[in-house]
Amino acid sequence: MAGETECEIGCPSRQVSLVFVSIHSINQVYVFGSIKALGADGMRTSHVGSYPLDHSLSNLKKAFLDTVEAGITVPPVPQLRPFTDMYLDPLEEMGYLKKIKGGKYNPIRLEGEPELPEMEEVNWFINVARERGFDLSHARMPITGPFTLASRIETGEGGIFNSLITDKKKIFEFLIPYVSRIAKRMDELGFGVIFVDEPVIGLLVGRRILFDYKESDILEAYELIFSGVKAEKGTHICGKISPRLSEILMKVPVTYLSHEFYDSRSNLDRFSKEALEEGGKVLSPGIVSAQSVDVETIEEVRKLLIEIIDRFGLERVDLVSGDCGFGGLKAAGPNAYNIAINKLKLISEVVRSLS
Ligand SMILES: [Zn+2]
Repeated sequence: MAGETECEIGCPSRQVSLVFVSIHSINQVYVFGSIKALGADGMRTSHVGSYPLDHSLSNLKKAFLDTVEAGITVPPVPQLRPFTDMYLDPLEEMGYLKKIKGGKYNPIRLEGEPELPEMEEVNWFINVARERGFDLSHARMPITGPFTLASRIETGEGGIFNSLITDKKKIFEFLIPYVSRIAKRMDELGFGVIFVDEPVIGLLVGRRILFDYKESDILEAYELIFSGVKAEKGTHICGKISPRLSEILMKVPVTYLSHEFYDSRSNLDRFSKEALEEGGKVLSPGIVSAQSVDVETIEEVRKLLIEIIDRFGLERVDLVSGDCGFGGLKAAGPNAYNIAINKLKLISEVVRSLS
């Protein structure tokens, strides 16, 4: 049975082929070189958001244009400053927080409704995209989630255990409405893909959920953030995913689940084709390391992507990316940016090799 059909989960720009039948046929097709029959033509590529470059308009333009040039089909608004500062600095300017050292903040008063922040990277990006005739419906807007933002607001000494993350009331009354208004604004501006990045949820949800949160709190947080948002929705949580978190993720009101598979192979065992189908979820797999400064070989990355497609099905894989943003590669020195762009080129090349 061959033919093209609209993706069953309703993603508008993705056409899936019904050619694939089983994992065995995929392997066979691959072995015999008729990769075309895999039907990965519509599989999109993306990037989590950060780059090892300093925050400036010229660097943002460079990162965006080089990402498009690398063949990434859903480029993000480049994050060139810490992804928590982007959303917490405006709260400091409005008098809600005081910035202390190490990317941390102290609360001053977290009451009322903060204004929508003016994020210069968003304005820059929209202007550059307009200049280049790039349609925002193919761009990804990464928004940092309320739990991760809360983890940077210290209410005492001693890291996350003395941060606002322990204060459910403040998260629900102050941070979630703030993030939710930003998500709606980005939707109105026309971004086609909106991701909420919540690495801290990976720490929060192990065998049990820390700080007295319940599964329903996490689901409600996502419901509130994305309520009324029409864009394609996703969430990025890097690190190792626990079995408990995987169960919860199947119920969050987003389509795309972005997780690392290169550096955390155990994540392959955390998901199943059946659960993804039942939950209407699509994996946005990380297939290259965001930590190693070595650019992976095309063979190993292709092998990993084929294994992911094998396990979960072609129609359950899209927005193929790196494990995380590449801002952390900055420690590699002057060559860090080239390494990041070469990793993006590799992702694009591997996906195209399956088309
Ligand atoms: Zn990440």
